[in-house]
Amino acid sequence: MRIDVVSIFPDYLAPLELSLIGKACQDGLLDLRVHDLRDFTTDRHRTVDDTPYGGGAGMVMKSEPWAQALASVAAGNTEAATKPVLIVPSPAGERFTQAAAHELAAEEQLVFACGRYEGIDERVMEWAAEYFTVRPMSLGDYVLNGGEVAVLAMVEAIGRLLPGVVGNPESLVEESHSDGLLEYPVYTKPSSWRDREVPAVLLSGNHGKIAQWRRHEQYRRTAERRPDLLAEFDAAKLPRADRTAF
Ligand code: SAM
Repeated sequence: MRIDVVSIFPDYLAPLELSLIGKACQDGLLDLRVHDLRDFTTDRHRTVDDTPYGGGAGMVMKSEPWAQALASVAAGNTEAATKPVLIVPSPAGERFTQAAAHELAAEEQLVFACGRYEGIDERVMEWAAEYFTVRPMSLGDYVLNGGEVAVLAMVEAIGRLLPGVVGNPESLVEESHSDGLLEYPVYTKPSSWRDREVPAVLLSGNHGKIAQWRRHEQYRRTAERRPDLLAEFDAAKLPRADRTAF
């Protein structure tokens, strides 16, 4: 998969060179390129923002540097069979979820446009629709200073789903949000720690009982912490053996 990120703070994306995503790039599983939006300006001051039409606080990112940057990225990948997906991080976008991460992990090329200030001139997204599938996406219901932190999170969530990035693919199957529930609690050695015991069932060696306990715990934890998820959860979609826990 190829991922392009356009930002006025390319150094912000440096953590993507670390850990599993950094290794995926080194191993050729991910082709990640970060671009400086200011390289696509034409004035001496490398201006990327201006005052908003209609008045109000803050500045808005100018359309032309964005069009130049995105056209350059789109033209740079002539091998793509499908339109790249342009993800525009925005608190006003659709919610980025694990399901969205799975969907996006199947794409050939993703392009991320990191907004700053009050965001990007809306006409950029209209113009870009000719060359990209445009998806404004939100990390959550809060406001960040820029799109870079959202991109770090999204690229990590998507990148770890690419084949070969996570050593044991089994570990992706039972995670929170993989089947609509949160993950069960996990423990490691020692079995007794500061007067706290690991639940006995996990030491029993009875795999059926362990699986059932974990399902119960997933349900209990989801009901306690995220009842909104339970409203959408459908136990009928689980494998038959797992349904008995509900
Ligand atoms: N004025 C915008 C609004 O109210 O929708 C917020 C602009 S915010 C200060 C600047 C940039 O941060 C946005 O253009 C976007 O790229 C990024 N951003 C802020 N919150 C975000 C969120 N929850 N998810 C994704 N990106 C976010």
